[in-house]
Amino acid sequence: MSRVAPLDLLDLDASLTDEERQIRAVVRQVVDDRVRPHVAGWYERGSAPVRELATEFGRLGLLGMHLTGYGCAGSSAVAYGLACLELEAGDSGVRSLVSVQGSLAMFAIWRYGGEEQKQRWLPAMAAGEVIGCFGLTEPDHGSDPSSMRTRARRDGDDWVLTGGKMWITNAPVADVAVVWARTDEGVRGFVVPMDTPGVTATEIRNKMSLRASSTGEVVLDDVRLPADARLPLAIGLKAPLSCLTEARQGIAWGSLGAARDCLQTAIDYAGSRTQFGRPIAGFQLTQAKFADMAVELQKGYLLALHLARLADAGTLRPEQVSVGKLNNVREALGIARQCRTILGANGVSGEYPVLRHANNLESVLTYEGTSEIHQLVIGQKLTGLSAFA
Ligand code: FAD
Repeated sequence: MSRVAPLDLLDLDASLTDEERQIRAVVRQVVDDRVRPHVAGWYERGSAPVRELATEFGRLGLLGMHLTGYGCAGSSAVAYGLACLELEAGDSGVRSLVSVQGSLAMFAIWRYGGEEQKQRWLPAMAAGEVIGCFGLTEPDHGSDPSSMRTRARRDGDDWVLTGGKMWITNAPVADVAVVWARTDEGVRGFVVPMDTPGVTATEIRNKMSLRASSTGEVVLDDVRLPADARLPLAIGLKAPLSCLTEARQGIAWGSLGAARDCLQTAIDYAGSRTQFGRPIAGFQLTQAKFADMAVELQKGYLLALHLARLADAGTLRPEQVSVGKLNNVREALGIARQCRTILGANGVSGEYPVLRHANNLESVLTYEGTSEIHQLVIGQKLTGLSAFA
């Protein structure tokens, strides 16, 4: 009997343009060639060749691909989303590298930087020659960045930054950081070369999730920066929050890739694993699991596609992005855990990608706004009441 792949149930491919399908095929191929054969080892060792991957992704035009000018590809939000999906089908850590580079660090400079800052940083970042990171979270302030303690004070024409950032993706390998700090006038953003005296970034060890991604703590000890290190158009906390809105779109797509990879793995496994004299894929309970997971995957895909089309039309609102991030990551994690059950004991083995994806999605559930924070964003929109504090 013929079989349909989990993401092809509703023939949604028909709604993609040729260019979108082509970009997806290119990214799927690079993931097959450069990520899949190695990622279990990177995960086990807790380190990935971030710089090599960045160069390869830069060569393919994936870094900041939805931005325009300065060496960026200017792709549609749908094409960018499809790329995120394929990258995260390889590993959430690999997609995180691309998201942080393009949607957080590059987007902040692209949207809020001056012309000289853009010329200096963006082409090299798009090429993957310069790796960026984005420092908003602090050891004591995650969901509530408005309480950040990192400070930037004026000293003559210079700025002096003091404080620390925590859980910063790419920081230990980064060449440049976009750092958010409190000033006398409110929150401002700074472009900080990582070799500036007073900046140190150390790898956070013992992560049980996103092990194929580099995550660091950044200490800023009287870091002296010239006046032009400040992002001139970034005024207040809404600037970093807008960068998060940008990156969350890629996450709504990417999480579906991890879920698809789990579901495909489980379907293949169940087709060949025999118990009680027949393939476990033939048991009704297993098929009910597959059906429910495939339905959720399709719904998530429709949601991601809809949000990306709104983004391409320029009408996407932050609370709509929250719907996508909340739903798709939560459902992807549910799918990954359910697939784990279908693989039985093999489900906990690194020979299969399923528990790695599930563990990764635990971080994805938390970063870029936890599920609870997105519930509060949506709840506020529905009731007109803020329940944040
Ligand atoms: P907390 O804010 O302490 O939250 C703990 C719990 O309390 C959560 O369940 C939360 O939902 C809940 N909670 C908090 N406030 C409320 C409320 N008002 N109502 C109900 N519940 C609430 N940050 C960066 O800036 N840059 C990065 O590149 C980056 N990369 C990351 C990579 C990884 C692997 C991880 C794990 C995190 C990364 N982060 C990064 C940090 C991430 O964004 C934060 O972890 C996240 O915002 C949550 O903050 P927290 O961990 O301090 O949790």
